[in-house]
Amino acid sequence: MTPSSDDASSLGRRGFLRSASAFTLLPSLGTTKADLVLSNGQIVTMDPAQPRARAVAVAGGRFLAVGDDADVLNLATARTVKVDLGGRTVVPGFIDAHSHPASSGYKHLKQVDCDLRSIDAIVAALRERAARTKRGDWVLGFKYDDTKTTEGRWLRRDDLDKVSSDHPVLVEHRGGHTAYVNSMALALAGVSEATADPAGGRFERDPGTRRLTGRAAETAVEAFEKLIPSGLTRDERREGVKLISQMMARTGVTSVHDAYGTPDDLQAYQDARDSGELSLRVYCSVGQMHLPAMLAAGVRTGLGDEWVRVGFVKATCDGSISERTARLRDPYVGRPDDRGILILPEAALYEKLQPAHAADWQIGVHANGDEAIDILLRVYERLQRERPRRDPRFRIEHCTMIDASLVARIKALGAIPTPFSTYVYYHGEKMREYGAERLERMFALRTLLDAGIRPTQASDYPPGPFEPMMALQSEVTRTDMKGTVWGASQRITVEEALRVGTLHGAYASYEERQKGSIEAGKLADLVVLGRDPLKEPASSLVSIPIQRTMVGGRWVFEA
Ligand SMILES: [Zn+2]
Repeated sequence: MTPSSDDASSLGRRGFLRSASAFTLLPSLGTTKADLVLSNGQIVTMDPAQPRARAVAVAGGRFLAVGDDADVLNLATARTVKVDLGGRTVVPGFIDAHSHPASSGYKHLKQVDCDLRSIDAIVAALRERAARTKRGDWVLGFKYDDTKTTEGRWLRRDDLDKVSSDHPVLVEHRGGHTAYVNSMALALAGVSEATADPAGGRFERDPGTRRLTGRAAETAVEAFEKLIPSGLTRDERREGVKLISQMMARTGVTSVHDAYGTPDDLQAYQDARDSGELSLRVYCSVGQMHLPAMLAAGVRTGLGDEWVRVGFVKATCDGSISERTARLRDPYVGRPDDRGILILPEAALYEKLQPAHAADWQIGVHANGDEAIDILLRVYERLQRERPRRDPRFRIEHCTMIDASLVARIKALGAIPTPFSTYVYYHGEKMREYGAERLERMFALRTLLDAGIRPTQASDYPPGPFEPMMALQSEVTRTDMKGTVWGASQRITVEEALRVGTLHGAYASYEERQKGSIEAGKLADLVVLGRDPLKEPASSLVSIPIQRTMVGGRWVFEA
């Protein structure tokens, strides 16, 4: 069951005591009776006033007290549940500040997971699905990754023609910015060799014959997407949210920022929460095309409660890092004419964001390449100049490739970068197209932290895996799965990576008083780990088992 949020919010309003002593208690709760006490643990609190503790007490879904075993156990009554942690390490629940939980949950429910190691295996999985799909209906796949297949080339329409000539087939790249279709899908969309590329997109052609390859990038994907019926009922959407929230809870994620929400997604999160099936907290952004409806309804950032809250308005400025379409100042390695794709130029971006800024929405814009970030910062600077807001917390979604002057402007604006947390480890093989020099200023946590900026952890799932332990290893080692180091100058410590993944995520959604650390008064979100990341060799952080995950005082995962 969902814990009572009434208790929690009234408690939040009354505030709480901060203390530098070894024991902090929340006196304003009106009770000192604990629902639950965890003792005999190594608790890494992320609270600077009390960095380590042995025990915590929980009441009404919040931390009641944090301190030594004896003091905290004193709060237990006959009805208190007591858990001996057996010396295990506890950290605050992880906050994934940019991912796509609802939409990926629906896909896990309905589509073929193409995270497979060969094109043959992908074709076989799609054929199997086509065999039980009505003639003429779409067969859809997701999480395809060209660099993870043995063939090491893009999927081609000829491959997908082997899946079926009676079904249109569309496979989405793991990065989400390119799609691969068969001949029937091209015909249905009326796309032929004579079709011009749309603004901000491209239908790829064979360089020799000019024949369409079946690969569509950025806005060109819309030609197919608009033909695909969503086909999801309200119940299925709730099911999809339940599924992904369970998948994430198993890895220690307790809060997510949905980076491209729709009104349907907001409904799905709320439905899952009402049925007790939501096991993580959601700060749900709203795609900019839905902004007019939100403004008309008088909705803005912050509406909601600790479980489901309206987040920032989201727009997209350039392409993707994993698919190598991000807009760069200098060309990709090996492709001297290719600097990536700019989706929204500066004037259009300003026009779309100005109404959101005027209505006091938080704004988050996808900007990966250094040129895209430069453009976005100019827009943010103009918005602030024209209508200064006290604490707009502009977000730069991904903010992958920076330099010293961009960092100075990010700092001056108080903007929040949300760089990919698991890309170095998981997508290492794609990094050579950026080159060694640029890797020293990509996902640049060391530089951002040293500048006093608050970057977050962000998986962007599906594009990146969401496991927080993989994020720690990726950020601390800057080493990929095969042992290659990318951008060693950006390494941070485990302690810093924990802060990025907890407190900074809370700050990015204006919830730093509610969560992100284990301290009296905050929401009782935590993770019990099988081993201590502060003592673990950096090269095996990814293998630390998650033993239990708690959200709002309730265990949502137990190994
Ligand atoms: Zn994203």
